[in-house]
Amino acid sequence: MKLAVIGFGNAGGKITDKLLWYEQKTNRDLIKSALSVNTARVDLARLDHLPEEHQFLIGQTDSRVKGHGVGADPELGAEITEMDRHEIDRALDTVPVYDIDAFLIVAGLGGGTGSGGAPRLAEQIRDQYDEPVYGLAVLPSKDEGGRAVLNAARSFRTFADATTNLILFDNDVWRGSGDTVEGGYDRTNEEIAKRVVTVLSAGEIDDSPVSENAMDSSDIRRTLSGNGVSTIAYAESDRIPEQSGFLSSLRSNGTHDWNGADSATKVNGLIRQAVQSRLTCPADINSAERSLLIVSGPGDAISRKGIESGRRWIEQTTESVEVLSGDDPRPGADKLSVVVLLSNVTDIPSIDQLQQRAVEAKQNIEQQAEVRKAETEELLTDDDDVLDPI
Ligand code: GDP
Repeated sequence: MKLAVIGFGNAGGKITDKLLWYEQKTNRDLIKSALSVNTARVDLARLDHLPEEHQFLIGQTDSRVKGHGVGADPELGAEITEMDRHEIDRALDTVPVYDIDAFLIVAGLGGGTGSGGAPRLAEQIRDQYDEPVYGLAVLPSKDEGGRAVLNAARSFRTFADATTNLILFDNDVWRGSGDTVEGGYDRTNEEIAKRVVTVLSAGEIDDSPVSENAMDSSDIRRTLSGNGVSTIAYAESDRIPEQSGFLSSLRSNGTHDWNGADSATKVNGLIRQAVQSRLTCPADINSAERSLLIVSGPGDAISRKGIESGRRWIEQTTESVEVLSGDDPRPGADKLSVVVLLSNVTDIPSIDQLQQRAVEAKQNIEQQAEVRKAETEELLTDDDDVLDPI
């Protein structure tokens, strides 16, 4: 698949930067155009892989923003995005639309710029172009507090409505206990990039050898159709030593020997491990409507028999209407990676919790505002209300 990726807000920009990094590192050809849109100049300046001409600052002329961000206010983020439509159009004009299969908009939903702006951008692109608009939405972790939860719950609804499919990543389940905030984000952004790039670049025609059972962009589009919400499963093998090479370990019956185990068994085991390990956003996999399985890595380590038995196992385990599968040989890869896109999942406990906590946060914020209003009123008036204001 060929993508135009637009990072909205700080998290959106950093994750887009990481997608570019991972694409280059693994020699893939996925991103035709990458842009970052933000209301804060300092956030744009921190991006390593996105050239300056692909960075767009909005809200510069608004007295509330002036290049300093929207202060975690998604209403303002949405308003500025609408007001600065011309700047957004200028950004979209740089996208070679004839050469892409889809747009991907990336944002963290707990703040203001991405939370308010990304859904507006998705609506604008949906109305202007025929290509599908996918979203990659990051949910805040619990310790970010009520405001982030409320922003995310509100934005989630609009963003999911405006996109062809919304891929979720839950910061709460990916936060390491010893992580500093930024160090933790860098690590989680790598985890996001691995999964998203591996799944969306499968079957792309580039320097990699032709696979036996390639996916193409229509398979990915098909899996991501239906206006739902998706999560991604992933597992990778240990490094496969080059010297002991698969080709040299070919057995007389045509199967490979991989550290003593049959390669079909290994591939099948890795597929099960992926589905049973931590998803980008925890969900009941039985509730997935469709799935897409991709096994990527050194060509001679990919067993089609293993993929087929893994595919059947996913079909039975998830009760998906359809499970598509394919291989994605990568020259120079030293590991096997299995990625499973579980689309249109409906049972997502983090979303239920997010919504409940957002309702509580909204009530708390309203109560606090009322108390503060009363206290301010009391401060400004004398006890017996004798004094007249001038
Ligand atoms: P914005 O610039 O106003 O959109 O706000 P941010 O993008 O800075 O923050 C929005 C949310 O994204 C936060 O509430 C965090 O949950 C999350 N976040 C911020 N930076 C990162 C990051 O680098 N990686 C990840 N995974 N999440 C982030």
